[in-house]
Amino acid sequence: MKSLNQLENENSDDKPHWGYESYRDSLTTVNEFGKRVWVYAKKPFGKWYKWRGVVGYILLAFFLTAPFIKVSDHPMLQFDFVHRKFVLFGSVFWPHDFYIFLIGFISFIVFIFLFTAAFGRLWCGWACPQTIFMEMIFRKIEYLFEGDAIAQRKLTKQRWDAEKVLRRGGKLFVFYLISFVIANVFLAYIIGSENLQTIIFDNPLNHTKGLTAIMIFSGVFFFVYAYMREQVCTIVCPYGRLQSVLMDTHSLVVAYDYKRGEGRAKWGRSRDEKAGDCIDCYQCVDVCPTGIDIRNGIQLECVNCTACIDACNMVMDKIHKPRGLVKFASINGIEKGEKFSWNARRIAYSVVLCVLVGVLVTILSVRSDLQATILRTPGMAFLEVPGGKIRNIYNVKILNKTFKDLPVELKLESINGDLAYIGKNHIKVPKEDYGAGIISIDINKDKLPSSSTHILIGIYSNGKKLQTVKTNFMGPEVYK
Ligand code: SF4
Ligand code: SF4
Repeated sequence: MKSLNQLENENSDDKPHWGYESYRDSLTTVNEFGKRVWVYAKKPFGKWYKWRGVVGYILLAFFLTAPFIKVSDHPMLQFDFVHRKFVLFGSVFWPHDFYIFLIGFISFIVFIFLFTAAFGRLWCGWACPQTIFMEMIFRKIEYLFEGDAIAQRKLTKQRWDAEKVLRRGGKLFVFYLISFVIANVFLAYIIGSENLQTIIFDNPLNHTKGLTAIMIFSGVFFFVYAYMREQVCTIVCPYGRLQSVLMDTHSLVVAYDYKRGEGRAKWGRSRDEKAGDCIDCYQCVDVCPTGIDIRNGIQLECVNCTACIDACNMVMDKIHKPRGLVKFASINGIEKGEKFSWNARRIAYSVVLCVLVGVLVTILSVRSDLQATILRTPGMAFLEVPGGKIRNIYNVKILNKTFKDLPVELKLESINGDLAYIGKNHIKVPKEDYGAGIISIDINKDKLPSSSTHILIGIYSNGKKLQTVKTNFMGPEVYK
């Protein structure tokens, strides 16, 4: 017996190349002529699917609300690429914080390596926004409008009568509406929820760019969920393509216990007593959203969604065999009965990850709200001023990383001298912006140890020291 997808496709013009071990060199969703083979995944049920639902809806709630939730009066998450401003849990980061992003990004990559080496492609099936939106929202709407896999196939073959227009057209219309909502949320991640509200409620003619972005994003999301679907995971996503180098025989993956299941034989009177536990019912294949047969072993297309575990467990229950013919297990676990353990590779990843996270936490905890540079004004030599003093002139540039205007006071700290503002008597740094000014520093020439002296300037706001900046004070050679 063959899976419904296989039977369906053999009878269609888009004949796939089903055949012995064809899965090794070809995708199940592309036929020998390079045409797409549509996957009609059967509705999954079971314990794992329930847990996936719980995890999925929690993450969906997070994805859909994060840009609208305020932390300290600011978005929980915002990635304003246009103004190069990023808000994470109420803290703003600028391009100057690039090194933090770099360390954070490297930590994330190492975490993904570690996670994948340990648990395979679990992220894809359980936490990736693409899968969660597809399986927990779009697929459910599809079942609602078109029924389960068999009904969907029937509808595809059906001529375009009123029922088909209503069912398929209705589904696509709701798909577009949801894509539109996702596009709005996506835009809120970039421009912030307030700006999004302005675009929505203001005169549309004033926001043609924003509205165009929403329409483009809506179109992209609609295309992804109505047409691309599992192709994103199998063809587009680079993480999926990396699986083969990240996993090893110790990695926990969704796997078929071939020792127990082979030689598979149909359920029925003629079934041999010695036959394997797999009754070749194809339930595991019919529920697979990527259209593969898990019994062929680990494959690039498997997103570890666990739908086949649930399907097979239900079959095992019915035939009174133990559950777990398809289960979470490592290849070594199935072949040699090895228990899950931390091998050298995972330990190495863990150590590197701990170090990186430690560095990241340290940097974040000492990160200042201001970033100041104080440099001698180009082209200006030192001046000798009355009272036996040497004067240097400096350009001050201060970045305010916070969401409030900061009055700033500068104090000379490492040496006695006079610091004065030129032009204005203070520097005020607007929120999320730069403030600039010019200062002069006079130091008694007797106090200068050399012609080039390192001096420290404290940056204060409302009496609180926010940063200490080191700069150079130049004097004549004779003072060496
Ligand atoms: S083989 Fe199983 S776990 Fe992998 S994608 Fe298909 S249904 Fe999901
Ligand atoms: S669901 Fe289980 S018994 Fe049925 S074909 Fe798949 S592995 Fe075999």
